[in-house]
Amino acid sequence: MVCRTLSILGSSGSIGRQALKVAESCGHQVAAITVNRSVELAEAQARRFRPRLAVAVDGAAAADLRVRLADTGVKVLSGQEGLLEAASIPDADTVVTAIVGVAGLRPTLTAIDHGKRIALANKETLVCAGELVMSRAKEAKAEIVPVDSEHSAIFQCLQGCRDRGEVKRLIITASGGPFYGKTCKELSLVTKEQALRHPNWSMGAKITIDSATLMNKGLEFIEAMRLYAMPPERIQIVVHRESIIHSMVEFEDGAILAQLGSADMCLPIQYALTWPERTTGPAKPLDLLSCPPLTFRKPDPDTFRCLRLALECAEKGGTSTAILNGANEAAVELFLNDKISFLDIPRLVERALDTVPMSDAPGLEEILDADRAARQAVYDFAR
Ligand code: NAD
Ligand code: MG
Repeated sequence: MVCRTLSILGSSGSIGRQALKVAESCGHQVAAITVNRSVELAEAQARRFRPRLAVAVDGAAAADLRVRLADTGVKVLSGQEGLLEAASIPDADTVVTAIVGVAGLRPTLTAIDHGKRIALANKETLVCAGELVMSRAKEAKAEIVPVDSEHSAIFQCLQGCRDRGEVKRLIITASGGPFYGKTCKELSLVTKEQALRHPNWSMGAKITIDSATLMNKGLEFIEAMRLYAMPPERIQIVVHRESIIHSMVEFEDGAILAQLGSADMCLPIQYALTWPERTTGPAKPLDLLSCPPLTFRKPDPDTFRCLRLALECAEKGGTSTAILNGANEAAVELFLNDKISFLDIPRLVERALDTVPMSDAPGLEEILDADRAARQAVYDFAR
């Protein structure tokens, strides 16, 4: 049985909490946890898992957490330094990157530079800086194992494939989200509450909105290009409403391998920890006899403009994907705060892509500058 020692960045989130559930069920140790400001949850997690380090990024939250954990011997840190210390903590062999957004980029790079295995949930990192992240991982011999269910499915289907040249294409499945089949006119009327109700998955707010706009599928398209070094023409998105097949790989001989499972993130999280081994765990088993018929359809990037914009950036590369991502993060935040409408999200992202200057082969600072400029552009347009 594989027993790992984990640092969980973003332990209060949907993925972070499920990672702790997997750790408890499978006997992995926890060396560090981090939250943004959820102090009560961080206290409960620290008491239960006894990590060496607990981080609250927010300074006031960290001060509160320090008082709460005074009797435990758990070290409490704050800010970016705290995050980077959690990402590089010597006890941990594996870092689960479950922070949402580009805020996860620097800690992921730090964990990579320390040669940790990365159980990667934080897709925005690969979207903004995929080439940089993958080349740093190669240099440091850090394994990157995807947690995102589609990319985990592809990773699982690729086990035993000795020559990537045999892969004809990757087929990413999409649930289509809560608004599948709606027209632009209908989309102009949808509310935040409707957008937050995903038909198949329970996730954090940002990715739930991304799933409703289909930006999530666009981000996953770019994530797959970076993880598997695939050109865009060899990746296909297929709407599969049932979310039973999590993605597929088609090989040169015409064989298509698929990974099936219930809509439960515990399985891909667990596989990222135990790969190349498999163990029992908490994921809900799939009962084939109670599955609905499996259906496959074309996505509609004309109605779901965010998908179209992401596919265009996938072709363009450079800082365009960082601009796309930064603008989207800002627009989703405004939507969640009731400042803009659902269709303003693609509108504002498109305007940011039209105005923020792009460069071709960016380093880290250029990527972060592009991200900041894109956010600012969205806030300015929305004013
Ligand atoms: P979430 O909103 O539930 O949790 C986010 C976590 O990040 C929290 O612990 C929060 O405290 C922390 N955080 C937020 N802002 C931060 C900041 N500025 N600095 C440091 N920490 C910060 O999100 P989630 O749904 O768990 O998603 C996490 C990541 O995993 C995202 O990149 C998402 O795309 C990806 N992902 C999630 C799912 C899912 O089922 N939830 C599936 C696939 C991929
Ligand atoms: Mg996914």
